[in-house]
Amino acid sequence: MSTLLVTGAAGFIGSNFVRYWREWHPQDQVVALDALTYAGCRDNLADVLAEITFVHGDIRDRGLVESLLREHKVDVVVNFAAESHNSLAIIRPGDFFSTNVIGTQTLLEAARTVGVARFHQISTCEVYGDMDLDDPGAFTEDSPYLPRTPYNAAKAGGDHAVRAYGLTYDLPVTITNCSNNYGPYQFPEKVIPLFVTRALQGENLPLYASVRNRREWLHVADHCRAIDAVLEHGRLGETYHVGSGVEADIETIANTILAELGLPESLKTIVPDRPSHDRRYLLDSTRLRTELGWAPEIGFADGMRATVAWYRDNEAWWRPLIGRSPVSETAWR
Ligand code: NAD
Repeated sequence: MSTLLVTGAAGFIGSNFVRYWREWHPQDQVVALDALTYAGCRDNLADVLAEITFVHGDIRDRGLVESLLREHKVDVVVNFAAESHNSLAIIRPGDFFSTNVIGTQTLLEAARTVGVARFHQISTCEVYGDMDLDDPGAFTEDSPYLPRTPYNAAKAGGDHAVRAYGLTYDLPVTITNCSNNYGPYQFPEKVIPLFVTRALQGENLPLYASVRNRREWLHVADHCRAIDAVLEHGRLGETYHVGSGVEADIETIANTILAELGLPESLKTIVPDRPSHDRRYLLDSTRLRTELGWAPEIGFADGMRATVAWYRDNEAWWRPLIGRSPVSETAWR
């Protein structure tokens, strides 16, 4: 039996992960820490709140983090907490460096002081920077970090701190870099829930002019299974890529959503691109697949169908969140 401290647990992936962990590891204790920024919703955990300890607090609060590690005898820290919206990072970069770099380092320092069996960092494909649309390769775990936006640079900084603590202090660390996630409970500022919720309200879908830019899409449930595999069997000090290998450009995403909802493609509207917008990221996930036997279980078509249906059926969840993002209609999305 273990006790996990899950940070950013009231966000999109964190809340899916807590629900996943309760289902597959019901013997474990979960302490969920979240600052409840505009992107965090305690309600995302409503169905499991009675089974976990929820703490409203900030990963930058060293005293709080240390006392949680001691009081609950935490074995495993899983760090999802982050400012996560690329467009907001262009407007408020300071918040991103503060939480994603200093917040991560504060957690690491608390973990080093108190002692934990594992510190797992949730990272992103975006730290590797821009990839050519025609590049036949993919980023490997040995590719250099070349971030080009404040969000990506701040995530890269957090990851560097994790590796440094692993090497310098022998802190038992692991990192997963994952491709773009989709699924239930994603804040409606991110592209898939943004498009679905706008379509459901009869509004235009704003596509960046770079409509051929593409991403590698993974259902959040497959991401949770990958983190589980790394926590259970991953080698300490190691990094594992988590990706489906399934790429789709932004216009395909919009068309898929409109087709699913029976709406016309004329709802698409082109908006100016955001600065330093990476064209593409693709991860080579061979290490995770061969070493730990992970493979995605949810195909893109089925996953998108289920996701669109979830937002259609859960308007009571997303309706109160519309307009809560600090990124206005006219700013970069
Ligand atoms: P999210 O914005 O939905 O959730 C982030 C959560 O962190 C929110 O609940 C927020 O309240 C909380 N938070 C922010 N600052 C905090 C602080 N200082 N202290 C405590 N809590 C704080 O983001 P998400 O999409 O769920 O992403 C979770 C993690 O996964 C992030 O680290 C992100 O970089 C990473 N990631 C996301 C994707 C993706 O496609 N969404 C892909 C790869 C990696």
